Amino acid sequence: MPKRSLEDMDENELAEKVAQRCYSLFSSLPKTGKPTEHEWTHLSCVVCVNDAGQIDVLSLGTGTKCLGKDQRCSKGLLIQDQHAEVIARRCFLKYLYKQIDLFKSIKKSDIITSVCEHSKKFVINSLLKFYLFTSHTPCGEASILTDDVKKCKFNNPTKCLSKENGLYLKPGKGYQTDSLSCTNKIRRWLQLGIEGCLLSQLLSTPLYLDGIIIGKCSARNMDTLECLFSPCQILFSNSQFEYSPEAVSENSKSCSNSIGWISDVESFVTTDGYLLGKTKKARLVEKHSPPISKYALFKSFLRLKQLNNFSTYAEAKLACKDYNVRRQQFMIKNPSWIQTNPQQYYQIKIEDDEK
Ligand SMILES: [Zn+2]
Repeated sequence: MPKRSLEDMDENELAEKVAQRCYSLFSSLPKTGKPTEHEWTHLSCVVCVNDAGQIDVLSLGTGTKCLGKDQRCSKGLLIQDQHAEVIARRCFLKYLYKQIDLFKSIKKSDIITSVCEHSKKFVINSLLKFYLFTSHTPCGEASILTDDVKKCKFNNPTKCLSKENGLYLKPGKGYQTDSLSCTNKIRRWLQLGIEGCLLSQLLSTPLYLDGIIIGKCSARNMDTLECLFSPCQILFSNSQFEYSPEAVSENSKSCSNSIGWISDVESFVTTDGYLLGKTKKARLVEKHSPPISKYALFKSFLRLKQLNNFSTYAEAKLACKDYNVRRQQFMIKNPSWIQTNPQQYYQIKIEDDEK
């Protein structure tokens, strides 16, 4: 029987297929870091679909926790924001670095087709479509505006920072965080490109998501989601994640671990921002930092960026000219946006013996 192409697939079918792929990938992962019987979590994945309708999960993240602003690591060794969407996106960045590395070394990659003659940057196959799958409505404005969520006993309330600008802060474990809600972060990825500042120096064009697919959950409102994430397509799946808050018993609590998975690379588990099982002493040692920490991603970037003389993360970020123009325009439109202090948190250095 001939395979059906992406064009032949209707939106519902695509959403169902993507959800099933993400859930079954999660099921296939080892037990470590997964919720126990009385725990729930959220799941997110970055997925790519080719013109023949083939679906590949490129990265996966789970989690619901966020460190307080006083727990932020100035060396970039901890993962501050461990919500599923943020973990999945960072794992996707790691996947992109790996693909660039493969293309550079053996001229073979699943998503990169060539190097732009003019800019010398890597070109991603334009026939591929990229989707963010989440098992739940992202926290912040996307879930707050729906009436249903007020009735949802599992809603972990975000704190309003600016109603006018729709800015909400994530809740912490007894500490105030300075991490914006997933709704805010996704809106930023949609406007600036999901690859972020450093990778924009290596990719020929910004990488924009083609759609967001949301699993069955208690707080979904199509109008709200379309309005917030326009022009990105919103699709709903009718399949529920086995560990979603709605699927577990009433007295369950959220799981403290986050699982990260990068296609063809590795999977890992973090808790409180560090790799599960690391002693207090090891947590702040560079080589034990999670593979998607700011430190680890900066290291991947420096390895692939030729002819650079950046000594700090801040210097590397300043060099992303086109991205910084888009970023400035975004900040003008979002005046209350929380910006990380570069003097305090972007002075990350990779020692020579770590390169
Ligand atoms: Zn979130």
